[in-house]
Amino acid sequence: MGLKVYINGELHEKERAAISVYDHGLLYGDGVFESFRTYNGKLFRVREHMDRLFNSGKAIALCIPMTKEELTEAIRHTLQVNGLENAYIRLIVTRGVGTLGLDPDKCHDPQVIIITDSVSLYPEEFYEKGLEVVTVPTMRNHHNVLSPKIKSLNYLNNILAKIEACQAGVLEAIMLNHLGFVAECTGDNIFIVSKGELATPPPEAGILEGITRQVVMELARRAGIPVAERQVTRFDLYVADECFLTGTAAEIVPVVRIDSREIGDGKPGKITLQLLQMFREETGKCSAG
Ligand code: PMP
Repeated sequence: MGLKVYINGELHEKERAAISVYDHGLLYGDGVFESFRTYNGKLFRVREHMDRLFNSGKAIALCIPMTKEELTEAIRHTLQVNGLENAYIRLIVTRGVGTLGLDPDKCHDPQVIIITDSVSLYPEEFYEKGLEVVTVPTMRNHHNVLSPKIKSLNYLNNILAKIEACQAGVLEAIMLNHLGFVAECTGDNIFIVSKGELATPPPEAGILEGITRQVVMELARRAGIPVAERQVTRFDLYVADECFLTGTAAEIVPVVRIDSREIGDGKPGKITLQLLQMFREETGKCSAG
């Protein structure tokens, strides 16, 4: 039996799970989403993900038609039906069906969709050998235009950057902001290690405030590693001792080349590997329930 997808309280076969072509989520990218992970059957940092989902909804004036508790229960139910223990979960709330015009007030029925699937990380070799990335011309959305803090269905900004990464023959792009400072990647946050200090661009750099980013900063502080949220330039990237990316799906992935410059000694760094180990211990603490 194939995977089932949750749509507004009902489960549908993956191949038949569908919503209207008049949904503004499709017509205009008008909606929000969140990604979750389970480890050993337990949702990781569910409260933080739910809070971010509701903040995204609030920011686009989209009233999410279920409570955080109801959504959590719906995720658990969908996972159970699909028999998934270590899963990736995509929760989507669209504006719903409207007219062909933009007016969101004509949409009266937001759609709640939950897709649960197996996790697809970067191939294992990248965790061992590290990833090559490039900085790209497409800059991250200016927060006065569309705040990168909103996890919306409109990911075109990131997709344009991803196209540029693919054209350069690498898997991920580093996006700068309008001031030329490093912001983040297309689906991950970025960290560097320089002289023993861990640094990552601050929220004002124009980033999605990643939950994994937050966990990594907590783990680093716990390990006594100095942590700074500060502006990072391309120069800082090139001369860093270590670099890595963080995200719900990717977890922590080392970066060893940026714009053809070798980072550190071209191998995943010591602090990166220490944090990856700590992260795996942290997620491993999740026990079923
Ligand atoms: N930045 C962007 C643009 C993302 O899409 C993601 C993935 N959600 C992240 C950063 C990482 O966030 P998180 O650790 O919460 O998955």
